Amino acid sequence: MWTGYKVFLTETCDVDKPRIISNVITTVAGESDINQTAKIHDALEAKALLPVTHLADAAFVNADLLVKTPETYGVQLLGPVRIDSSWQAKEGTYDIGRFNIDWSAETMTCPQGKKSSSWTAKEDPSGNELISVKFRYADCSYCETRNLCTRNKKGSRQFTLKPKAQLEALSKARITQQTLEWREQYKARSGIESTMSQGVRANNLRRSRYVGLGKTALQHVITSVAINVQRVTDWLGGFEIAPTRVSSFAHLQG
Ligand code: SF4
Repeated sequence: MWTGYKVFLTETCDVDKPRIISNVITTVAGESDINQTAKIHDALEAKALLPVTHLADAAFVNADLLVKTPETYGVQLLGPVRIDSSWQAKEGTYDIGRFNIDWSAETMTCPQGKKSSSWTAKEDPSGNELISVKFRYADCSYCETRNLCTRNKKGSRQFTLKPKAQLEALSKARITQQTLEWREQYKARSGIESTMSQGVRANNLRRSRYVGLGKTALQHVITSVAINVQRVTDWLGGFEIAPTRVSSFAHLQG
């Protein structure tokens, strides 16, 4: 059971500018992170503070948001997505990338050239669109490469696909996040960790002085304002942001 509250901080990360906390959301501790992404963007939009690119932790990114965030807010959401966790992907056999998807004909073609036999639209319990795709039992049961494709002893290969836009965005993100350019761009996200640390160590962010969500949220806003005032003052005074410390173990590795 989770007790207490969570705070979600968003900040700017422009080079040579003070890092300013631009949004604060406080929820009860049980709220999921992924549900906050759109709320953060709603709040930033209301303040005309939407960024061009929003660097976010993996907990705030999924295929649906990769598609909807640019469409709804004009913001590029940049954060790591989950890798394909299927055994086929782990073992380098017939994962989804080895299948050709024809969205207009609503068919998939497997590495052995067999076409899927059914394509059915459905929804998950949260109402998200999905597509169930099945291959013919007659094709799969006599397939010579079946052991590379399915462990379904009695059935044929099946998929549950996300809609086209989401699946393509996810596939693209999985490739892009392996590149050096992506990693360089994403590095700036780590700055928010120092903000959390500053809030906790210098401003007692982890300890709510009052009872109730409303008062705790107010405390978080006041704490964020205090951090902003300190940062702007430091910036105007010409204080440089301290470089990230390198641990003794990292020194040894270097
Ligand atoms: S098991 Fe079925 S889907 Fe998989 S490669 Fe063989 S025929 Fe194609």
